[in-house]
Amino acid sequence: MQNKDIILTADRPTGRLHLGHYVGSLKRRVELQNSGLYDKIFVMIADDQALTDNADNPGKIRENIINVVLDYLSVGLDPAKTTICVQSALPALHALSFYYLNLVTTARLSRNPTVKSEIQMRGFADEGLPAGFFTYPVSQTADITAFDATVVPVGEDQLPMLEQAREIVEKFNRIYGETLVLPKAMIPENATQRRLPGVDGKAKMSKSLGNCIYLSDTPKTVKQQINGKMFTDPQHLRIEDPGHIEGNVVFTYLDAFCTDDHFSRYLPDYANLDEMKAHYMRGGLGDGTCKKFLIQVLEETLQPIRENRARWAQDIDTVYDILKAGTDKARETTNATLQRVEKAMRIDYFADRNVIKEWKDVVKSQNQ
Ligand code: ATP
Ligand code: MG
Repeated sequence: MQNKDIILTADRPTGRLHLGHYVGSLKRRVELQNSGLYDKIFVMIADDQALTDNADNPGKIRENIINVVLDYLSVGLDPAKTTICVQSALPALHALSFYYLNLVTTARLSRNPTVKSEIQMRGFADEGLPAGFFTYPVSQTADITAFDATVVPVGEDQLPMLEQAREIVEKFNRIYGETLVLPKAMIPENATQRRLPGVDGKAKMSKSLGNCIYLSDTPKTVKQQINGKMFTDPQHLRIEDPGHIEGNVVFTYLDAFCTDDHFSRYLPDYANLDEMKAHYMRGGLGDGTCKKFLIQVLEETLQPIRENRARWAQDIDTVYDILKAGTDKARETTNATLQRVEKAMRIDYFADRNVIKEWKDVVKSQNQ
């Protein structure tokens, strides 16, 4: 076991990545990648996990793999520093999941609050719950531990997953001896970034809820989403009326994205967001002005991403090679962990010929 800092994060290839992914996880990954403080960074496209609730739609998963890689490269993940890989091509993860399933009870899985709410959201409570979906926290534990990850940068929705992963790791190490690395979650400090709501104001921006601003959306679509779908304060009918900040999605997004610099560039009437909020609450600041400012702020993030994406999209052959090389490297890493795990579990019969002697002794003792 190494004593190094290793990062693993993953995304489900169920659609293009959105602003929630960006503030909740992607932005942090790029910062960590460029900090030079981490020994290894793995970013995985979790296609197997995506299949747990999309078994009847494998085409969707297949086509979104390229979307997710393009999003990764466009936000600045650099294949020279970060290993980008595909889950289904790493068979060690399947084996680890199978072993870990024995270390968790169905009662414990049923209590996982993220899984519970996702079961509701996907209608599985009525239609029947795929066993693979029910157990996906175990497969996430396999992912994390296979890379010996110490740090997992995620949004808030993933905290129960990390908690469950830590329990499995502790149980494994207790039974089979110190083998697996105990991972830690890393979530954004800014509350809004931990769980960015959808443009419709629903608790979470999520592909499944269709309330997203995608990193690859055109400026026109971004504008339409904000001007057409985003709630402000329903009581703020005339500009001069006092407005409310709480539950006002425009301000929630400004909390997540805007900095004082944005004010000097686009809205010099205010020094910072607090001054802008104060004016809105007093009355006299129109929703149109707020939305226009938000669009400018978001475009500062989105425009370079969009441009990078357009460039990478011209060169899918190279993108394929990046993904294949990353996956080959990840396969070596995860196979090594599996070997370590099988040794700890004493099921490494063909890696260790000492078992022949042991078996001879077993047979001999029975013949005596
Ligand atoms: P799906 O609907 O298919 O589950 P999703 O939009 O929830 O998709 P995931 O691929 O499940 O996205 O999440 C990938 C990562 O992005 C996770 O670390 C998750 O915590 C983070 N994340 C997703 N949505 C948000 C959000 N709205 N705010 C903050 N972080 C988010
Ligand atoms: Mg999700």
